[in-house]
Order: sequence, then structure tokens, then C-alpha cells
Amino acid sequence: WAKAEGRGRWAVYDPERSAADIARSALAAGLPAALDRGEFVLHYQPIVSLLDGSMTAVEALVRWQHPELGLIGPDRFIGLAEETGLIVRLGAWVLRQACRDAEGWRRAFPGTGLVVSVNLAARQADDPAIVETVAEALQHTGLPAELLQLELTESAVMGAAGEPLRSLRQLAGLGVRLAIDDFGTGYSNLAYLRRLPIHSLKLAGPFVEGIRADGPDVADHRDERIVDALVRLAHALELWVTAEAVETELQAERLRALRCDTGQGRFFGAPMPAAHIRARLAARPGPVVDAAAVDGNAG
Ligand code: C2E
Ligand code: MG
Ligand code: MG
Ligand code: MG
Repeated sequence: WAKAEGRGRWAVYDPERSAADIARSALAAGLPAALDRGEFVLHYQPIVSLLDGSMTAVEALVRWQHPELGLIGPDRFIGLAEETGLIVRLGAWVLRQACRDAEGWRRAFPGTGLVVSVNLAARQADDPAIVETVAEALQHTGLPAELLQLELTESAVMGAAGEPLRSLRQLAGLGVRLAIDDFGTGYSNLAYLRRLPIHSLKLAGPFVEGIRADGPDVADHRDERIVDALVRLAHALELWVTAEAVETELQAERLRALRCDTGQGRFFGAPMPAAHIRARLAARPGPVVDAAAVDGNAG
């Protein structure tokens, strides 16, 4: 170990670290060409009403279909795309593709009102062209603005200046919905909640994870009480609440009892290709048929 260049600057030989760095740079270097070659795909995860089980929205989650490495999750490349700035172009592609898919579902299944929810990275939300990019995606695909939701984390909402991003009002002005993603994990500045045109809060997975039947660490049901408080806060501000990472029936039941509006997670369905969402829409229960009328017709 050699601390050669003064405080905080290490000149160390660490073969493992450099191997990981090399893999990271290789992945980062491959991103622009991957976008040009169409190697990114969107999967969609159902967001389900806890009241009646209907699918009210889907969240678009990007994956990289890498020719050698297989399907790569966003946790491995979104950060890289943010660092290199490619997120702006990749994000524009995601927006356009998500709107195109949602418009396809709307046309095939009119009246379902299925919302598509798209994640915006901080760097994307901060881009001067974001309002134009969103407006263009809507215009080009024909998707009504109210069927698009944009998810921003607390830190993305608060720009670098510590002030809520100015673009948020303009985005809301387009008629799209805004949601705070992973709510409760950022350095919450609750003041922004009453000042911004936000439509819903997505409660971060770890709180939901803490809703379990037993175990010494959950004996006081602390996470459940946090969820209870956050749902009340959201409703007091007239916001909708979605619980993330719902994995068990118990969690779904407890969340429903706590008046949480919608849930998302493996219990309701993992992220899936667009065709599977279409199949779900096709299989959904139709309008309730009046049994007496059916009997009458049958004679
Ligand atoms: P997120 O927006 O909070 O998305 C939810 C993540 O939770 C997804 O991971 C989803 O697959 C995962 N998840 C689903 N069901 C469960 C469950 O039952 N339990 C648990 N523990 N997790 C569940 P994924 O797809 O790997 O995405 C990770 C993150 O990558 C997203 O977190 C989002 O911040 C980012 N991301 C994904 N797609 C995009 C995109 O198109 N643009 C941007 N800017 N970021 C994206
Ligand atoms: Mg993942
Ligand atoms: Mg999200
Ligand atoms: Mg989230």
C-alpha cells in the first residue's frame, strides 16, 4: 500500500478493484452503440389496486439485452449512463417506447385507462430539454398526457441548488402525473411536498419488507407503523400511495388495511415483456354481466 500523493489520494495496486473498473468502463463504453443497435428493452411491472385487484398502471423498467452477457438489469448501467451523460438519449428512447406501448394497449383495450410510469434519472430531470422530450414522446405516439406518469426520487426533485426543479411545473403543465419514487429513503424535505404538483408517492421497498408476521426484529411492527404514518401523510396531502416491493399476501393484506391505494411487487407480478401485459389486459374480467338478463336471453 502506498499513500503516495497526499491525503485521500491512493496509488494502490489492487488487482480485483482494477478488474471491476475495467469491466465497468467496458460496459460504459458499449452503451452508445448498444442504444444505436436497439439492444435495450423495456419490461413492465403491474401496479395493482389494493381495493379490487385491477391493474391501474405499469412501471417501465429498462434492461440491456447484451449480445454476450445476456439480460443486464438497470442497476448495472443506469449509473454509468448518468455519469457519461448517455442517460439523456437513453431516457428519451425509454419515454418514446413506453408511450408507444401504452398507446398500443389503449387502442387495443379502450377504457382501461392504463397508466405507464417512467423513471426519470436526476440528470434527465435536470436536462433543459426534458419538457420538450416528454411533449414530443406524447405527440409522436398519440398517448394522452394523463396516461403518462413520471417517477423521480426525492434527490432528483430537489435540484443541485437545493430548490425543486423548475421543469416539474412545466411537466405537470403538460398534464402528466408526477410520482416520488422510493419515498422515505432520501433526505426528505417535506416542504416540497406541499409546493409541488405531485400526484403520488411510492413507498420504498424496505418499509414494505418490514411488514412480516413475526420475528424478534419486527415484534414492534415499526415499519408497519411507518407505512401507516406515510399513507396518512400522503392522503392528508391528497396524494395517491403505491407500495413497492410487495412480495407476500400478508403484506398486500396489511397494506390494504392501512388504506394504501396500490401495490407493486412480485406478489402481483414481476417485471415482464410488453406482450405479457397485453395478455393480462386481454384476460382481465370484463364488465359484470347481469345474470338475470343472460338467463332471460337463454329463454
Ligand atoms: P425502481 O424505480 O424503484 O424500480 C423498482 C425495482 O424493484 C425494479 O428493479 C423492480 O424489478 C424491483 N422489484 C420488483 N418487484 C420487487 C419485489 O417484489 N421485491 C423487491 N425487493 N424488488 C422488486 P429494477 O428493474 O432492477 O430497476 C432498478 C432501478 O433502476 C429502478 O428502481 C430505477 O431506479 C432504475 N431504472 C429502471 N429503469 C429505468 C429507466 O428506464 N430510466 C431510469 N432513469 N432509471 C431506471
Ligand atoms: Mg434489478
Ligand atoms: Mg421507479
Ligand atoms: Mg422505486
